[in-house]
Amino acid sequence: MQSKYVIVGGGAGGLELACKLGRKLGPEAVMLVDSRLFHIWKPSLHEVAAGTLDVHQEGLSYQMLAHDNRFTFVYGPMLALDAQQRVLTVGAIESGDESKEQILPERQIQFEKLVMAVGSTSNYFGVPGAAEHTISLNATEDAERFRLTLLKLLTLAELKKSVQPDAGVDVVIIGGGATGVELAAELREASGVYATYGFRQLQAERDVSITLLEGAPRILAPLPEKVSAAALELLRQRAVNVVTGTRVTAIDGAGVTAGDTVYPAQIVVWAAGIKAPDFLKELGLPVTKSGQLDVDGTLAVKGYDDIYALGDCAACIGPDGKLVPPRAQAAHQMADYLLETFMRQHKGQSPQTKPYTYRDYGSLVSFGQTTSVGSLMGSLKGLSWFVDGFVARMMYVSLHLMHHQAVLGTVRTGVLAVARFLIKRTTPLVKLH
Ligand SMILES: Cc1cc2nc3c(=O)[nH]c(=O)nc-3n(C[C@H](O)[C@H](O)[C@H](O)COP(=O)(O)OP(=O)(O)OC[C@H]3O[C@@H](n4cnc5c(N)ncnc54)[C@H](O)[C@@H]3O)c2cc1C
Repeated sequence: MQSKYVIVGGGAGGLELACKLGRKLGPEAVMLVDSRLFHIWKPSLHEVAAGTLDVHQEGLSYQMLAHDNRFTFVYGPMLALDAQQRVLTVGAIESGDESKEQILPERQIQFEKLVMAVGSTSNYFGVPGAAEHTISLNATEDAERFRLTLLKLLTLAELKKSVQPDAGVDVVIIGGGATGVELAAELREASGVYATYGFRQLQAERDVSITLLEGAPRILAPLPEKVSAAALELLRQRAVNVVTGTRVTAIDGAGVTAGDTVYPAQIVVWAAGIKAPDFLKELGLPVTKSGQLDVDGTLAVKGYDDIYALGDCAACIGPDGKLVPPRAQAAHQMADYLLETFMRQHKGQSPQTKPYTYRDYGSLVSFGQTTSVGSLMGSLKGLSWFVDGFVARMMYVSLHLMHHQAVLGTVRTGVLAVARFLIKRTTPLVKLH
């Protein structure tokens, strides 16, 4: 197989680039490789975990996106790279059943330009038991595993209730960043909804305990203090036990140890840090201490003029000397920057002179289906506006729709938004199977 532009990773950034480039250059020139068959916008994974978003409705098939946006899709995980020969290896795919029959063989892809956009994975910082006893929200499988475990535990607690009045479910979330905070709030809302669908003896706030542990002195530490304080208040109103300034030292099947305290837990979520996928270190490309690909201001991997990286897997130092943060808005902006780079190359124009510069438009943190809180950056440097409530929630939803618009177009995004609104009124508010 061969293609002029090969993008590995169809997430927040890679998929947008493949769609936009495909619409301009067509399927012979643009190829997307992903280890999964369907795409979910990663910032919505906490909703999948809580059951308020159904992956089977939300997931967008890469085959469909490839057809509609005129790129070629290759299904399989990238395993290796020969940078000199410009060839990458995509692993074989086996059937998901017991036969383990090989459905697709290992494949080699020849490229002219390669874009690495493989995102990030959990960083456990060597905490004993973290990898074995926690669930992370790295991918849809993780979020689905969390949802099914929660559903099972709620069912068991409901059954036990008549003989054991204090039966319940203890959830501990490690990490008070946006992922942990959003999950805690979504979970509290969802646990109330589960109670209305047959879990008659369980009372959400009394029987589903949610504890959020954070090492820093406040939750949402990178955001303005006002946002942290508002978020803390919203979590307290939802009976989430927030403990800050505490370091988790061990995790086992019974719970989480932080300092002298053991927090009993049947489900533990790790949302305390991310790192680049380990296989990047094996590719022979320059990586930073955190394992991210070391890129220059044009997003080219240092020392290579035909290999680029974007999003969470790229370590890009902006003109301000700061590392670009691992966020969906950065991945989206980097995709647009590389689109411009490649279109100039394609048209034989001179390269972009300006390096990629991260523009922070602010941060919004979702608190369930009706409210959000956050800060929006003004056009004047350093100025930000605090937003909360329904308006902030609408802005949060519009971010997701903007991503859909980039990959589906305006009309289909509008139709999809209306369809999902209607479907939500004909199906349970949380996924029950
Ligand atoms: C619960 C949650 C909430 C978040 N909320 C926000 C938010 O509100 N705002 C914000 O800006 N950011 C948010 N983020 C962060 C944001 O999701 C990421 O920064 C963003 O998705 C990174 O985009 P990406 O394109 O680099 O990678 P991803 O979106 O992670 O996509 C990576 C893709 O690469 C594929 N892949 C991985 N390895 C391979 C391989 N070996 N071969 C082939 N394919 C591979 C994966 O299947 C995936 O499709 C949140 C993250 C989480 C988990």
